[in-house]
Amino acid sequence: MEFSERMLVLQVGKFREADLWVRLLSPSRGIIAAFAFGGSRSRRRFAGCLDTFNNIGVHVKSSPGKQYFALQEGVLIEGVSRLRRDGRRFGTAVNCVRFLQSFGIVPEGAEKAHFLMRETLRVLEGCGEVPRLLPVFFRARLAFDQGYALELTHCSRCGKSLNGRPARLLIRAGRAACPACARESSDYRLPLGPGTISMLQSLHVLPPVDWVGPAAPAAAAGEFAEAVDAFIRYHVGITWEDGRFVRR
Ligand SMILES: [Zn+2]
Repeated sequence: MEFSERMLVLQVGKFREADLWVRLLSPSRGIIAAFAFGGSRSRRRFAGCLDTFNNIGVHVKSSPGKQYFALQEGVLIEGVSRLRRDGRRFGTAVNCVRFLQSFGIVPEGAEKAHFLMRETLRVLEGCGEVPRLLPVFFRARLAFDQGYALELTHCSRCGKSLNGRPARLLIRAGRAACPACARESSDYRLPLGPGTISMLQSLHVLPPVDWVGPAAPAAAAGEFAEAVDAFIRYHVGITWEDGRFVRR
């Protein structure tokens, strides 16, 4: 089997003297691993495109027994430079890529994940100041897009509108509730102010380019990050431990 596609380079490693292994995000197949034989030497076949965070066009062939993919040649479509020179931008990009890899992307969710990753890298390359919450926005949006959407417009128990009102996130249920209903629930709960609810709602639809803007007040940012990470820990099973994401 052979195919050509535009993919994002998530990780590159050395494998023997002249060969590389790469992990790529394909918009049709999800995360795939491949070898680039001669990849660290062949300027003609890969012309410097095998670097982390690059958007590349590649021709891929599967091995005779289909045990692995081998990259035949590649061209750079869109690279990053500022992102590599700036430690904060670089660290944020690595954090998003690591979360994506822990999450795992299946073919059904590949197109949305590829769009999200590509646009997030564009923001990190081009934006003025990197929003502090960007990695949390990324985690929330990836989970929402991959089937873990949060229903936040109404109380999940009495149906009352939550628009402009404080609420609670019921962690196990993965739903929001008004404070009165939340008190009667035995679920773990976290506070959701009106600002946090509107941030979570808009994240379901806003592309990464619209994540850049006035920073949320520190208290709201903390509440938002806590709600997103508790939701992901319980429903997706990913936690941050000893400097890395772990999936249970
Ligand atoms: Zn209620």
